[in-house]
Amino acid sequence: TALLPTAPLRAHAQIDLGALRANVRALRERASGARLMAVVKADAYGHGALRVARAAVDAGADWLGTATPEEALVLRARGGLPASTRIMCWLWTPGGPWREAIEAGLDVSVSGMWALREVVRAARGAGRPARVQLKADTGLGRNGCQPGDWEELVGAAVEAEGAGLLRVTGVWSHFACADEPGHPSIALQLTAFREMVAEAERQGLRPEVRHIANSPATLTLPESHFDLVRTGIALYGISPSPEVGTPADFGLRPVMTLAASLALVKHVPAGHGVSYGHHYTTPGGTTLGLVPVGYADGIPRHASGAGPVLIGGKWRTVAGRIAMDQFVVDLGGDEPEAGAEAVLFGAGDRGEPTAEDWAQAAGTIAYEIVTRIGTRVPRVYV
Ligand code: PLP
Repeated sequence: TALLPTAPLRAHAQIDLGALRANVRALRERASGARLMAVVKADAYGHGALRVARAAVDAGADWLGTATPEEALVLRARGGLPASTRIMCWLWTPGGPWREAIEAGLDVSVSGMWALREVVRAARGAGRPARVQLKADTGLGRNGCQPGDWEELVGAAVEAEGAGLLRVTGVWSHFACADEPGHPSIALQLTAFREMVAEAERQGLRPEVRHIANSPATLTLPESHFDLVRTGIALYGISPSPEVGTPADFGLRPVMTLAASLALVKHVPAGHGVSYGHHYTTPGGTTLGLVPVGYADGIPRHASGAGPVLIGGKWRTVAGRIAMDQFVVDLGGDEPEAGAEAVLFGAGDRGEPTAEDWAQAAGTIAYEIVTRIGTRVPRVYV
């Protein structure tokens, strides 16, 4: 029996918006009264940003977060969201669309002086103040203002706020190792964050939201919740890491199920090489099944010889190399019909593998598995 409603599709990613809404509610409960930002960057980690954003806001997400301003502008223009929905974007490069962002009422992140200068200039042009969130590097060593440069950045923001060119709506940061509970950097980052918030307040800023928690911190570290938590992976029902726990430990359910329709089932003799490079040779006479998805669809080639697939109630393993559009499984003599359902991953409670299983097979994280599922795979929303 099929796990998914039968659809005559080569492959599809079923997106369970009911599970997504339930995950939003479960995360809000965990957030100690803080507001919830649904992180919908990278097309909502492959789940489809427009549909996910609407469902998340519907279920009680107060904010949406994206990496690029372009992602945020599309959400504002085409998301069908209440005008009051706050949308923040944090990955800017010089010459970015500051003015469009101001006019769309986005919250923009500023990590340094070049960005502050550009946003102030755009606010003058737009004739309205920008909503700016100052980003502190409390130890991640990626984007954000170093503690040594913070006083100057805050001072410049205070001056621009005084001139009516911007409003500092947030002070924020990001963890390096929250997915390893107990890692010593977590406490150090929290201390640095408190100090940098205190410096901003000392200079007179009154941000609406102070925030640092991503999914693992939301799930495991209540003292990191401050005014807002930014959840990405947990929203999609996936645990940030095995150390944090399983999705079920937190009442979360995976949202994406990836299935394909077997393209061919055929008998082959012993000693038959399978797929490019012949990295698999049939140990005896057997049946092979052709699964019509490949690395062009985001199936990681590193999972060649290892990725699991549920076919006819049994887990099968990718035999040989994953190619651009297809891979092969050894069916061990079973003879499912062409068209039979092959489930690569899903919620895991109907016998199917999970995105975490594929991550393990490919030597990566489940974030990458769902995010890379390609545009050639239609999303079917239920
Ligand atoms: N905040 C920022 C700045 C991010 O870049 C991300 C994603 O990496 C998140 C929050 C969400 O992280 P997670 O998916 O672990 O919840």
